[in-house]
Amino acid sequence: MNRPVLKIKRVQDVGIKSGSVVLVRVDYNVPMKDGKVKDDTRVRETEKTIKYLITRDAKIVLIAHLGRPKGKIESKYSLKPVVEVVESIMGTKVHFAQDCIGEKRAEIINNMKNGEIVLCENLRFHEEEEKNDESFARELAKGCDYFVQDAFGAIHRAHASTSAITKYLPSSAGFLLQKELEYLEKIMSNPPRPFIAVIGGAKVSDKIDVLYSLIDRVDVLIIGGAMAYTFLKAQDVNIGKSLVEDDKIEEAKKIILKAFKNNVELLLPSDHLIVKEIDSSAKTENTQSMAIPDDWIGVDIGERSIAIFSEKIMTAKTIFWNGPMGIFETPPFARGTFEVAKAIAKTTKNGALSVLGGGDTLNAIKAGGISKEEFSHCSTGGGASLEFIEGKILPGLSALSE
Ligand code: AMP
Repeated sequence: MNRPVLKIKRVQDVGIKSGSVVLVRVDYNVPMKDGKVKDDTRVRETEKTIKYLITRDAKIVLIAHLGRPKGKIESKYSLKPVVEVVESIMGTKVHFAQDCIGEKRAEIINNMKNGEIVLCENLRFHEEEEKNDESFARELAKGCDYFVQDAFGAIHRAHASTSAITKYLPSSAGFLLQKELEYLEKIMSNPPRPFIAVIGGAKVSDKIDVLYSLIDRVDVLIIGGAMAYTFLKAQDVNIGKSLVEDDKIEEAKKIILKAFKNNVELLLPSDHLIVKEIDSSAKTENTQSMAIPDDWIGVDIGERSIAIFSEKIMTAKTIFWNGPMGIFETPPFARGTFEVAKAIAKTTKNGALSVLGGGDTLNAIKAGGISKEEFSHCSTGGGASLEFIEGKILPGLSALSE
């Protein structure tokens, strides 16, 4: 499917001046523990845009969501703990507005100095946000001169802060959003070949559309994780008690057929790491074939699969990876995922373009002690990157387009 080319203004092209009030949608949906930010990656990702606005001497109004409070005020979803993190990363005073709209916010904006930031409380404390409500968007825009979208992770949603807001302010893309689009466009439009996609994770159902889209684009499709068992069962291979989606077997057959028709090499695990119960102390075995004996559960790809997948990955010039090869959260079942990650990192070092997407994929490389810098691009939006690759029009992007 050919996607329409969207013309999107960049933040550096809209003429932000000293004293301009700039409303910035960021993705600060950070993991929290005991009222503290556990991982500040998402804040760091916005550093380039915010520091650019600071150097322009603008007043910066940050809007974001945290969790799913569904229109109700709940202290566990407050963005207040993020204030000190933003302050230390951006190196400027950060105020906090207890409501993302209204008089109090307006007062803070009036009284703050140029180059300072106000972080507004969770957008989703207002149910109008997820309804893409126009009057709520108008309230968000009040007192602001520009809107900058930098929340790639929220761009696949049609919400007031991603869609309706663009009707009320001159709108542009921040640096993070620009970088995300640049890399995803690269792999979608004219990827250096061979182009290999590695898809894993738990559910085929979440990834059917992306698999169909990739089969029209890649040279090789590698499938691991629990997803692989549905594909193996579709070919009458015994998978024991492994996780499977029986209602997706027909779909898996269609994908296999399409890969064959498109001359795409489809690689499934040829062996597995198996256990009798999912427990880190359970006795593990490596199967001798792609079949899993009755009563056993596949929890990772096996040694032979690791070798075959890694060798194939090393031939790629472009790689897209989404989803772990096994239950990587349990250390004895993580080797397949870590080895695939290492092979992708090595191929990147040799000059290939690699794009990783999805929260679990990034958690997996982190758990494996592999730095994000070893890949060309790690997408900050799991859902958004998948929908982009599926060829869908992302509401937040079409709203931004001229
Ligand atoms: P997803 O969100 O679809 O990318 O799925 C990620 C999840 O898939 C992780 O939490 C993994 O533990 C899980 N997963 C991967 N392989 C398996 C497997 N063989 N059995 C059960 N869960 C798996």
